[in-house]
Amino acid sequence: MNLCDVKTIKQIMAMFSLNFRKEFGQNFLTNVSVVEDIADNCCDDSESTILEIGPGIGSLTRELAVRYKRVIAVEIDHGLIPVLKYTLGEFSNVTVINQDVMKTDLSELLAPYFERGKVSVCANLPYYITTPILMKLLESGLPFEYITVMIQSEVADRLCVAPGGKNCGAITSVLNYYGKPERLFRVGAHNFVPSPKVESSVVRIKLHGEKPYQPLDEATFFRTVRAAFEQRRKTLPNALSAVFGELTKEEITEIVTSCGHAADIRGEKLNVAEFSQLSDALYRSIKKKVE
Ligand code: SAM
Repeated sequence: MNLCDVKTIKQIMAMFSLNFRKEFGQNFLTNVSVVEDIADNCCDDSESTILEIGPGIGSLTRELAVRYKRVIAVEIDHGLIPVLKYTLGEFSNVTVINQDVMKTDLSELLAPYFERGKVSVCANLPYYITTPILMKLLESGLPFEYITVMIQSEVADRLCVAPGGKNCGAITSVLNYYGKPERLFRVGAHNFVPSPKVESSVVRIKLHGEKPYQPLDEATFFRTVRAAFEQRRKTLPNALSAVFGELTKEEITEIVTSCGHAADIRGEKLNVAEFSQLSDALYRSIKKKVE
């Protein structure tokens, strides 16, 4: 069964009386070599468990199932569950779960698999919800080895740029805090049915086993990064003042300069280590004030 053949995909959808659901970001891959490349490169240990988000009709799921020990596939669309039973019936190492991944308790779902070995994530993500899903995976604190996702190239540009570079955003710093992102390859819109309006990229994030940056307080670190990028046209002290109401503008300027930055620097120029140092200084000053 070639689940990347457009005619076969349409036949299967018709057989189960289904339409492609735009609200779920359903753009299915039609190029078998792209699917094989994603499955080949998402992980380097065949004993791993793979969490797949959004299996669709199961094209990537099948390729993952032949390469890795287990696949746990979470699919929101109830209508696709009988399709997946049909297309994945021969694979005893695949578990399909009908759930919205944003509502799934990942720690509970994956605990038995982390106990048995490595777990990685692989997904052709629905574009409407790319960043929330990525943030959920990263903030879960679960020790995934790799997170490999197909996303819009425009988002990949922001994820894979060096922090402090032109295209970077809060997500760049947050991502580099958790791991090391790398664009594996680009995938043109003609490789999907229906075709999306944009080009896609496959990005693989290798999670840091031990984080190289250990801010004193993670919440203050994320608050600092968000503040800097929410108002990226403002100078860093101004952007921080809008968010850190506990400190005066003068105190914030003093903290920024004591960390070795010019008072008119913009937040987007800082890398993760500098954000970590700055958030520690902010945290200490806030703590001192409230004590
Ligand atoms: N993996 C298939 C492929 O590569 O052809 C389908 C990918 S398609 C871009 C995205 C898939 O994610 C769809 O099957 C869609 O129904 C599913 N999906 C969308 N939102 C979801 C959510 N919140 N939780 C789980 N699955 C979701």
